[in-house]
Amino acid sequence: MDKITLSKMEFEGHTGCLDFEKKDGQKFIVSLDLFIDRIKGCYTDELGDTVDYANIYETVKEIVTGDSGNLIECLAQKISDGVLKADDRIEKVKVTVSKPEAPVKGIFETMEVSLERRRKEFVILSLGSNLGDREANILAAEEALRALAGTEGFQYASIYETEPVGLEDQPYFLNTCVGFYTDIEPFELLDRIHVIENELLRTREVHWGPRTIDIDIIFYGDRVIMKPELTVPHPRWYLRSFVTVPLREIRDVGQDHPDDKEVSLYRKR
Ligand code: AMP
Repeated sequence: MDKITLSKMEFEGHTGCLDFEKKDGQKFIVSLDLFIDRIKGCYTDELGDTVDYANIYETVKEIVTGDSGNLIECLAQKISDGVLKADDRIEKVKVTVSKPEAPVKGIFETMEVSLERRRKEFVILSLGSNLGDREANILAAEEALRALAGTEGFQYASIYETEPVGLEDQPYFLNTCVGFYTDIEPFELLDRIHVIENELLRTREVHWGPRTIDIDIIFYGDRVIMKPELTVPHPRWYLRSFVTVPLREIRDVGQDHPDDKEVSLYRKR
């Protein structure tokens, strides 16, 4: 990755927990590392083929001078969001926010927060439940996904009722798909999903048997992962109408599936 650095930009800001910090303001120093997958301008020498430094400076200035929140951690997050939004060639950003005049008694050079954030990718999950209050289980899983730090822009498919696949002597399922943007890495996302499944008391005794909640990663951006613990795109997504029917509400995946008729609409969303 190529890197562009804008270092030690100084602004007057009002971020701070104490009243006088919000009222009087103080000095903030911001540094940025912008990571780009090969700057085209290296080869073309054209101004438009690299990031506009002045535009990034103005973006940061607007955020810092306009903020009246409590924490520089949160200010740094807002700066990373703003910078990634300002130019979609920036894949990753490192933001450092310094507060050299922080109201802390003692001798120090500065108080500083650094964070690295990458551009979020769109993931699509399949959710299914056939035990207990099936709809409540699905809604609780969605709530838990929304509560994860680093997820946003949720899209929900309708909920469908479907005949069980595999082991047939078990209750009908409710299934849906949910899509969202995230910068949680795929294996980390799978770990979070397992925590959510366990919290919703999934029973794992019978393979393909009844379950309170089952969450599968169908797509993660356009990534391809081939590991036993995580295969993406999900290896069987296109064979299962309980995936393809709701999925089609979020992403164009082509023609109707021959088994679509086995899936009936339970709740439109
Ligand atoms: P299942 O009981 O059918 O939900 O399978 C769960 C196991 O499949 C987990 O332990 C995962 O590690 C593994 N797995 C592989 N690929 C995926 C995927 N795309 N989404 C969810 N789980 C996956």
